[in-house]
Amino acid sequence: MSELTAIFGELTFNRAAMQEKLSHDTYSKLISTIYSGNPIENSIAEEVAHAMKEWAIGKGATHFTHWFQPQRGGTAEKHDAFISYSENGEIIERFSAKQLIQSEPDASSFPSGGIRSTFEARGYTAWDPTSPAFLIETGRSKTLVIPSVFLSWTGDVLDLKTPFLRSLIALNDAGIKLQRMLGNRLSKKIVVNCGPEQEYFVVSKALYESRPDLKICGRTLFGAPPAKGQQMEDHYFGAIHPKIIRFMADLDHELYRRGIPAKTRHNEVSPNQFEIAPLYEEANLAIDHNLQTMDIMRQVGLKHDLIVIMHEKPFAGVNGSGKHVNWSIGDNTGTNYLEPSASPLKNINFLLTLGAILLGVDKFGGLLRASVADAGNDHRLGANEAPPAIMSIYLGEYLTRLIDEIESMNKVTEQVIANINMGVRNLPKIARDSSDRNRTSPIAFTGNKFEFRAVGSSQNPSEATTILNLICTYGYNIIEQRLNASKGKDIRESALMVLKQVFKETRKVRFEGNGYSSEWHREAEKLGLPNNRNTPAAMNAFNDHSVVELMEKTHVLTEREVHAKVEIKLETYLKTKEIEYKTAVNMARTLILPAINKQLTQTAKAAAAMKEAGLTSKTLLEESKIIEKIYIDVKAGADAMEKVLEKSSTKKGLHAKTAFLGDDGEAALARLRQAVDTAEEITAHEFWPMAKYQDLLTSL
Ligand code: ADP
Ligand code: MG
Repeated sequence: MSELTAIFGELTFNRAAMQEKLSHDTYSKLISTIYSGNPIENSIAEEVAHAMKEWAIGKGATHFTHWFQPQRGGTAEKHDAFISYSENGEIIERFSAKQLIQSEPDASSFPSGGIRSTFEARGYTAWDPTSPAFLIETGRSKTLVIPSVFLSWTGDVLDLKTPFLRSLIALNDAGIKLQRMLGNRLSKKIVVNCGPEQEYFVVSKALYESRPDLKICGRTLFGAPPAKGQQMEDHYFGAIHPKIIRFMADLDHELYRRGIPAKTRHNEVSPNQFEIAPLYEEANLAIDHNLQTMDIMRQVGLKHDLIVIMHEKPFAGVNGSGKHVNWSIGDNTGTNYLEPSASPLKNINFLLTLGAILLGVDKFGGLLRASVADAGNDHRLGANEAPPAIMSIYLGEYLTRLIDEIESMNKVTEQVIANINMGVRNLPKIARDSSDRNRTSPIAFTGNKFEFRAVGSSQNPSEATTILNLICTYGYNIIEQRLNASKGKDIRESALMVLKQVFKETRKVRFEGNGYSSEWHREAEKLGLPNNRNTPAAMNAFNDHSVVELMEKTHVLTEREVHAKVEIKLETYLKTKEIEYKTAVNMARTLILPAINKQLTQTAKAAAAMKEAGLTSKTLLEESKIIEKIYIDVKAGADAMEKVLEKSSTKKGLHAKTAFLGDDGEAALARLRQAVDTAEEITAHEFWPMAKYQDLLTSL
């Protein structure tokens, strides 16, 4: 056995471990629970809990935790020891079915958007058996981690996993219905697969320690452009630095132990920027694995004295970090509906799935953009960087031609059907070759999947994936209704007539050109495509009646939960901005101004010394004046930034506050930053109080 297969999944309570620890009957019941996505039955819970505990303790675990995905991002856990009293008062190790299935974390510190405070102060977590339990190791201690959903006692959603799982159910219903209509009797369950490509930066721990902005905000607030940044374009796919290779090898090893199928690793566009991508997996698992991967990356980095930065824009003027979420849909038979096939009916299904996604993006592009909105990602989507905030779909030249053909066809004859089938079947594999891709498109068809590139590197991909699922659900439902209306006709014929109409009405979201160009931005505005620059603006999408209707109809979120979600997102945005602005002011006053002062003192002293020596000191005097002017600018910038913070506290309501901070706040920060960056360029290296971009981006 190779090392990889020997260690793969050793820290997860996977099928092999389950089979070993459970009776045959319980094992089969658990597997069918996992398959159906239903909650675990009480009758087997006790045995499963016991087996899980035995397995975990056998591996050295002392504690267990329910692991969940709060709406503020990241993951959360609360550890409990297995320790308990036996009936006669002795200490024993115990883990009951009740503890496996449900736990009550003290949830009051997690954002609920007002849901919890009005009803019930506590929430509970419940095991999601479709995601296997695993062990986390910290030094000598091991903890059994139980992937869970997080709900309030009234059943209101408090996390990101619950709506995601619900979106899978909605998509399953819509998908299976359509499959039946197409005469497919074999599909029993719709399967969504995901593969998130994770970009990140790595910086030396020692340099990081000198930057309060990186430590507090996860990104730099100041920093003059380095002489050598990414302009040489020599980093992408370049040879990987040995220190990074050692880190990556360690990382892969840890991921494999957790059953996470890391596949590719390479340099990214910017110096010290990298990417890791897994093999694709069933979406729920892929998301849980991505969240674990981010945690493990940080931990393994620390062992190598490296800080892994997942922020979307840690360095201004340098490529940001995203998370390309590759999404595909198929069913339990292993068929991928987005894969062109030799079977004519499968190709009709392929086109209908494409049509469904076009319909969904056409209707809910603004919602999709909102699903990836936060303070960090605004620096990518709102700025002129991959990808734009306008949600459009890139299909590639060949597929576009095929769709145009369908759009312009008159009568559906056997010949037309045969031609179209041939067209899909021959869809060039070249679309999968990265050379033929449009890198500026937020939603690109890449051969047998869609690549959604607007997700931020630090984000939980489940929000975006939930909306992708709902977009497809919505489209499937519309298509099903229209097919129903043309009952009686040959299904292939009605499908093509429906597609003709769908392609026609969704034309405006198909875009093959340069997504960064100003022409596209103008054109998109004319077409009425939403283009929301920042989070406060993007959140308005949730106010749309059709969004609430979509959420309620699919049972993903109630209207109340939608409002709570918006509130939480805006609150998080507000806090992030306030922290950034306060950090900027603090750094300006306590680090930057004193440094400029040193430079000024030194220069002025030199000028005075020259004067004393009877020499003219025009240059040094002028220099002193320039430095003083910069000192004044930085001070004025910090004062203005502080004013913005004061003023924001007088604004009424979250929407007004966040909009103000997003506009006036960002403008004030930009002005302060400009002054500080100018100061950096004239201050002696010995006086500058923190690591500069050049070092952060090139030293390790
Ligand atoms: P790249 O986009 O870098 O050229 P690939 O196309 O091979 O690379 O895959 C990128 C990501 O897409 C990987 O993380 C992979 O897991 C995922 N992926 C590949 N095929 C599928 C699929 N059918 N469904 C979902 N994700 C997929
Ligand atoms: Mg990619």
